[in-house]
Amino acid sequence: MTAVHVPGTPAIEDGQLVSTSPATGVEAGRVPVTDPAEVAAAVERARAAGAWWAGLGFAGRRERLLRWRSLLARRIEQLAALVHDEGGKPVADAVVEIVTAVEHIDWAARNAGRVLGPRRVRSRLILAEFSGHLEYQPYGVVGVIGPWNYPVFTPVGSAAYALAAGNAVVFKPSEYTPVVGQWLVDSFAEAVPEHPVFTAVHGLGDVGAALCRSGVDKLAFTGSTATAKKVMAACAESLTPVLLEAGGKDAMIVDSDADLDAAAEACVWGALTNAGQTCIGIERVYAVEPVFDAFVDKVVERAGRLTVGADDADIGPITMPGQLDVIRRHIDDALTRGGRAVLGGADAVQPPYVHPTVLVDVPEDSAAVREETFGPTLTVNRVRDADEAVRRANALPYGLGGSVFGRERAVAIARRLRSGMASVNSALTFAGMSTLPFGGVGESGFGRIHGEDGLREFGRPKAITRRRARSLLPSMTFERTPGDVARLVKAVKLMYGRR
Ligand code: NDP
Repeated sequence: MTAVHVPGTPAIEDGQLVSTSPATGVEAGRVPVTDPAEVAAAVERARAAGAWWAGLGFAGRRERLLRWRSLLARRIEQLAALVHDEGGKPVADAVVEIVTAVEHIDWAARNAGRVLGPRRVRSRLILAEFSGHLEYQPYGVVGVIGPWNYPVFTPVGSAAYALAAGNAVVFKPSEYTPVVGQWLVDSFAEAVPEHPVFTAVHGLGDVGAALCRSGVDKLAFTGSTATAKKVMAACAESLTPVLLEAGGKDAMIVDSDADLDAAAEACVWGALTNAGQTCIGIERVYAVEPVFDAFVDKVVERAGRLTVGADDADIGPITMPGQLDVIRRHIDDALTRGGRAVLGGADAVQPPYVHPTVLVDVPEDSAAVREETFGPTLTVNRVRDADEAVRRANALPYGLGGSVFGRERAVAIARRLRSGMASVNSALTFAGMSTLPFGGVGESGFGRIHGEDGLREFGRPKAITRRRARSLLPSMTFERTPGDVARLVKAVKLMYGRR
């Protein structure tokens, strides 16, 4: 007998995690559930494979990672269709997500040797008789825990960089997108058949918790702030280092000299792509008084044109059925407290869909402004000037990304945003630039993926000094004489004591 599944809600059947489309309820696939007690053994198997992988060196890993990249690029339509079938994401959004992931694999593979490989560092006058050497050595096994909203981009953002740095990876995908997660590790195994360097463990939150306590050498987590705190607490028990990419409530600031058409276009996409289920999605806009009305009109006109539905629509279903209640609560709270819906509104939530909703004049203490909504909704509030916009944008504990539209002051405003990233005259673009680090501040987490910082996140700096000459002024030895110490005092005053 076939069990009845609630569309989009993961179910466990005969030891298998069954994944279904939130739009249609059609099964996307099933994967074996890992017993939490078995997770540590999976990490030990990865450790053995990781030793082989580390031994390949940068060139050997680069060649294999580029093979994996090519495979993803060639199968982009197949993977995009699976992302759509499992999470409901429109195929076009899935394609954009995969393109970004492919670019990150390519950059990490090509640049790991340059960024992490052994190099000489310059010595200074003090200890000039020694040369300095630095390299970043792999941790061993990195655990990666990922969310469902970008089931390719988010795990790849950690895994590709960790792999390029020479680590093995054990990946726990979200229970809402395990089939895409398994596809990623299967495709890697096809490109790198020799040893199981990149593997997955599947299940619910308890499997993720087991991974934190499994003996991994570092844990890279992407998900909500609430879970990030649990992950950090679990990892603290064994002093396992963590990288936390958590939630956000990103703001866009529209200054008086902004190109309003471009701002509205970027705002609508930044807020509503992937039905607003984007950690760096624009959830709040602060537009200065002189341009507020014209900007809102342009946003409403563009957002009102978007189609909502299962196939080929601009806005797909909400992936996690439970999120519908959060979105409804935020809209209701905003309206009850005096906000106005200029698009969508009270009846926008029609499970499994939410129609685009633009709320204006929403009190700053309402849930729609303060909490992560994760739906195709947006608040737009008017502010006197850019200073007030920055103050309000920075008033939340979150600090992930942000966007600024304007000319003269835009970059200066972007610098003042309390966030790890910002886009000037665009939205979300920093995520696709593999040369830039990605990560947040405050409740949005810490540590960085992507770019050189993202590579260094997955390597332990190893510092080596090597004697190249006899010490003229011996100091780090009991063989030093009182005369040596006196000369040292004289030297330090000469070198550093002057104003
Ligand atoms: P969750 O925090 O609910 O889950 C994230 C992952 O953690 C899932 O794989 C989940 O497994 C797992 N997990 C759950 N409980 C535990 C636990 N106790 N110990 C270890 N792991 C656990 O987040 P969502 O999947 O709902 O993702 C949405 C959130 O992710 C949003 O807040 C969003 O902003 C954030 N995000 C942040 C990004 C960033 O780069 N900063 C990027 C993308 C999303 P299971 O699903 O099986 O419960």
